[in-house]
Formats: sequence, structure tokens, C-alpha cells
Amino acid sequence: MIILLKAYFKKQERRVLPTVKSEVNFDFNIARETTTAKMDFTPFIKDVVAKYGDDAFEFLGLTGFNNNAANVRNFLKTDGLEFAKGINKTTKTRISNVIADGVDAGESIFQIKNRVRDVYKQASSSRAMTIARTEVSRASTFATVEGYKQSKVVKGKEWLTEFDELTCSACSSMHGEVVAIDKSFSVGGDPPLHPRCRCLVLSVLKESDIPTSVKPSEGQINKELDKLYEKAPIVKKEIDKVAKSIGKRYKGSVVDITGLKGRKRSLEKVINEFNGNTSKLTDIARNTLVIRDTRNIDKAFKILTSKKGSIGRTFLAKNNSLGYSGRLIKYKTSAGLGEIQLNNPAMIYAKEIHAKRILGDKLFNEVRKVVKLNPGKGHAFYEKARNMNRGLAKRKIEKESIKYYNIIRNRWNTHLAI
Ligand SMILES: [Zn+2]
Repeated sequence: MIILLKAYFKKQERRVLPTVKSEVNFDFNIARETTTAKMDFTPFIKDVVAKYGDDAFEFLGLTGFNNNAANVRNFLKTDGLEFAKGINKTTKTRISNVIADGVDAGESIFQIKNRVRDVYKQASSSRAMTIARTEVSRASTFATVEGYKQSKVVKGKEWLTEFDELTCSACSSMHGEVVAIDKSFSVGGDPPLHPRCRCLVLSVLKESDIPTSVKPSEGQINKELDKLYEKAPIVKKEIDKVAKSIGKRYKGSVVDITGLKGRKRSLEKVINEFNGNTSKLTDIARNTLVIRDTRNIDKAFKILTSKKGSIGRTFLAKNNSLGYSGRLIKYKTSAGLGEIQLNNPAMIYAKEIHAKRILGDKLFNEVRKVVKLNPGKGHAFYEKARNMNRGLAKRKIEKESIKYYNIIRNRWNTHLAI
């Protein structure tokens, strides 16, 4: 698919580039470009569906997957080729932006065209990779599930998440969920959950392996929470102990041991974010381990995630719409999972309202002197952005936030390097 995408973008670049003249003036009709993309990509997506549908049948010892079933035709008209519009919207926005930037900078038309060329260069490399991975995943997952449905022998489907340091919390909390074959997973659909998602769907053959999907009542959730809160002090003790012992090993570390998460907030989170699934709540007991040196953070992360049953997650600034970076470990204790937030003092300074209490006066003042910006603004950006719909205003907040984190990260790293 990457080859097809490269050819598509090349063709489009040849068509669009000569029309670039001034800020408002370039010829890019999204409807027309989308139609072209659909013509270019439909045969490929159809092939993927046929192949994975056949595979699903073969796996079940059957033959005769129907590649022309109503569901398949419908998929090719909707979800399967939806990206044709999405990629063109993105390309058009990016071209508009670089032209505006070029005009602002007082550049010549030649320079502006070079900016447009760069948009296509990126489209053919990293963007093509992301699109290809995501859309092949979408088509193959659809075909697998459609094959299961057509087989009549598969009763349910199970979400399988691939775990490593890139796995996001949204995908890791879906792992192992089982629903009836004609039902949606609790996130509202099948994988992919996001661009480059690597999650898969497995077949469940026995009706009895599908949990009854009745949403638990508040009373039931409270009973589950009682159990978790009973164990929480043990979890807390163990994660505090391991965080303190690792902190001791590395110079300039501090461990913030806040109390347990409030009962009311836990109940809200289970109902609103986890669809009633109490087992997804893993931060009743949590703490923060702050380590000065980046390399020592890597070492601490390795130690913490090497404990069997623990899951580590790395937030990379480039994948985070607000520019935050850090690590989170769901740490396995004898009484269940607890969460350890792991970061350097500068990111804590940038993100947390209570940075001063967490870092202590000495470390807090050192960071402040180095980064020369006010603390805690990251949290304010987060609160603002999360209540906004997608659009220019939100994008502006995100850009400010990315800049804020970048400056703080860079100044701190330079400080350490000197
Ligand atoms: Zn995923």
C-alpha cells in the first residue's frame, strides 16, 4: 500500500504544484481528489479483504468466504475507503499552512513551492507509512470479523493488544475484552483504535466464553471498589517501597507518596471512562518517582517493568498532542496493580500544580532557575484542551503547550549536560 500511496501523492503533487500562486490560490478540490483516491485504492483494499476473509475461513477449516457479501460492499463504500477523504483534508490543510507561513515570511513563489514539495515529501514517507499500517489493519480486521460472522461457527471475538513500550493505555485497557461476534467492543468498534494501532481480533468459539454484557449497576461497582480499597493499602505500601528503594539508588531523586485516590473520583472514573469495568482502575494506589538524570530514568524503568505482570508505558512528546513526555508503570504487587509515575524534575515542574510540594524547595528552585518559566502550566493547558472540540483554537493551545514543554525539556537537558 505504501507504493500505491507514494504514486498517488506524486501524481497529486504534479497536479497541484503548478497551481500554487499565492496564499488563497491553489487548485485542490477535496471531493475530486477523494474520488481519485477511491479509484486508486479500492482494488487494493478489496484484495486485503479477500485475503484476510479467506484466511479466517481457512483457520476454521472452511472454504468459500463471500467477498461480495452485503457487509463487504458496504465496508468498501464506508469505513474501508474513508481515509481517501481524510488524507486529502490533511494534505490540503498542510499546504494551506505552509503557503501562509511562506507568505508571512515574505518568501518568493519559488521558496513557497519548495515548502509545498516538503509537504509531499513527508506525505510519501512517514505519513504513507502511518496510513498504510492503519488502513491495512482496518481492512484486515474487518475481513477477519466478517469471515467469522459468515462462518456461523464463531460466537464471539476477543481483543488482543500487542504489548511493548509503545502500547498506549487505551489499547492496553482493551486487552482481553470478549464480546459477541455481532456486538461492538466497549470502545465502540473494532481495532484499529488509533493510527498505527497494532491490536488484533481473535475468534471465540464457545458461547459460554462470552461474558454477559450487562453493564454492572452502581451497587455492583461499589462492591468491586470495596474489594479494591481493602487491598489498596498493601498495594500502596509495596509501590512506595520499591519507588523509595530505586530512588535511593540514584542521586537527586525524590518520591512523592500522595494518599489513595478518592473514592468518589474512582467511582466516576469507572463509570465514565471504563464502562463499568472496575478491573481497569489501577491508580487507586499511585506515587511519583522523580529522578534527575534521564539515563537513570531509563534504568529505573527497566527495573520496574521487568517485574512479571507489570506494564510500562512511555509517553513520547512527538506522539502527545500537548508535548508532554514521561513514563508510567502499572506495577504488579502481591495485592494487585498500582501506578508509578516516573519522570525528571523538569517535566514534573512543567506538568504538576503541586510541583513545589513534590520536588521539595531545593530541587524546585534549581529547576526554576534553569528553565526560567513559571511552573505547572502543563496542567492548565491540559484542562483547557480537553474541554475543547477539535479545531484551530484547540490546535493553538496544543502548540503553546508543546512549546512550553519543549523549552523546559531542552533547558533542563542542557543544564544536565553542562
Ligand atoms: Zn491498539
